[in-house]
Amino acid sequence: MQTTNGAFPTEELRGRFARARRVCVLTGAGVSAESGIPTFRGGGGAAVWKGLPFDVISSAEMVERDLQAVWEWFDFRREVIRVVRPNPAHEALARWQDLFEDFTLVTQNIDGLHQAAGSSEVIELHGNIWRARCVMCGRLEHLSHDHSQMRSPRCTNCEGEMRPDVVLFGEIVPPEAFERAMLKAQACELFFVVGTSALVYPAAAIPEMAQTAGAFVVEINPELTPLSGFCNEVINGKAGEILPLFDAR
Ligand SMILES: [Zn+2]
Repeated sequence: MQTTNGAFPTEELRGRFARARRVCVLTGAGVSAESGIPTFRGGGGAAVWKGLPFDVISSAEMVERDLQAVWEWFDFRREVIRVVRPNPAHEALARWQDLFEDFTLVTQNIDGLHQAAGSSEVIELHGNIWRARCVMCGRLEHLSHDHSQMRSPRCTNCEGEMRPDVVLFGEIVPPEAFERAMLKAQACELFFVVGTSALVYPAAAIPEMAQTAGAFVVEINPELTPLSGFCNEVINGKAGEILPLFDAR
C-alpha cells in the first residue's frame, strides 16, 4: 500500500489514469456528506424518527407493518435532500464518463446527486430515494423534486401499494445491479473506492474482486479504513478536493 498525503496523485497513478481504457468507481456516503447530506443514522442507535431507531423505520419489516410511517420518514428525508447540490466530486465523476472507453459509476448513495451532476449511467446498489416502486408488479415511478406534486399512493398499473425504491434493512442489494457492478469491476484496469469505508457487504466485496481480477485499486477517503490495507494506493483527503485533480489540465 502506498499512502499519499499532500503530493497526490502519484506519478504512477497519473500515468495509469492517462492510459486507462476501462475505469470503475464505487462511491459511498462520504461523497454525499461533502454536499451536506446527513447520514440520517442519528448517533449510537438514538431514536431519530417518531421514537423509532433508524434501522427500524428503514426496515423491510416496517414496510409490512406500517408503510405509511416509512413514507413519512422518506418524505422527510427527500425534503431535506431536495435543496442539496452536487459537489466537485460528483462533477468530476460526471466528466470522467467522457474520458474513458468504458467508464462505470457504482454508488451506494440513494440521493441521485450523481445524476444531478450529469452522470448518465449509474449503477445504484441501494436504490434511489427519488423513485417509488409498486410492491405488487414492480413498476417504478419517478418522484418529483417539486413537493406540491403528490406521489401516487397506488400503482397506476395494478393498484398495488407503492413503496420507496430503496434497499432497506433486512433486504438484499438488487441482484442485477450487483452483477453488473461485479462484472465491470472485474473487467476494469483502474478501480476507485471513494467516500466509503466499504463495511457494508456485498458492496465491500467489489473492490477486492476488481483487484483479484488485476485492477489497480485506489482508495480516496479522509481517513484510513478497513480497505486501506489492500488498496494499491490510498489518498487520504476529501473526494471533492482529490478527484478534480485527476483530470485537471
Ligand atoms: Zn403495480
